[in-house]
Amino acid sequence: MERLQKVIAHAGITSRRKAEELIIEGKVKVNGQVVTQVGTKVSPSDKIEVEGVPLEREEKVYYLFYKPRGVISAVSDDKGRTVITDYFQDIKERVYPVGRLDYDTSGLLVVTNDGDFANLLMHPRYEIDKTYIAKIEGIPTKLELRKLEKGIKLEDGMTAPAKAKLISLDKRKQKSIVELTIHEGRNRQVRRMFEAIGFPVQKLRREAFGMLTLKGLNAGEKRELTPHEVKQLR
Ligand code: URA
Repeated sequence: MERLQKVIAHAGITSRRKAEELIIEGKVKVNGQVVTQVGTKVSPSDKIEVEGVPLEREEKVYYLFYKPRGVISAVSDDKGRTVITDYFQDIKERVYPVGRLDYDTSGLLVVTNDGDFANLLMHPRYEIDKTYIAKIEGIPTKLELRKLEKGIKLEDGMTAPAKAKLISLDKRKQKSIVELTIHEGRNRQVRRMFEAIGFPVQKLRREAFGMLTLKGLNAGEKRELTPHEVKQLR
């Protein structure tokens, strides 16, 4: 239970002092009843209205999360597998991932409770660069990497121009590591692009999303985005 004026102030619409004034002036309702007592305790499920406008209770929060492999990009799973929100049990806000990574892909996900922000980032017109590190079977030639860059014909159409860079190779094992930057987000796109040129992906990690990177985080760890990072993404 929290004090009404604190909850109102936390929602970011006004200061605590002003919230107290609004309560005294009879401009605040809790579950449809006017409440004029400053300090009234409210629970998270109470419906608050300020000057007739329902209060959005949760503060907006923004996280960068390093998803491990073997985790579902969802808030629940009917088969009981590990989901993103299992890593956010220490926060009170109800957050969800912006977009998805495959179950077997690790890497960077933005996690938030800000629906407008999530919709904006996921809009196809919002061409944010996503960089993936793929461990693949075989060693692609320059020409093959060029194909990835120019566009690959997949069953759901041509891929947009991309950037591909050979990071390392193991001649003996016939494996290599390629960095691929795309700005689309089709289902299993990176795996399908490599597959299409004959190089199955063994391991995939999303290393960067716009200017955000995994730097400083281990798999399963998260950090809050700075206000500057949130602003830059918008
Ligand atoms: N491309 C893929 O193939 N998998 C992902 O999880 C993300 C991009």
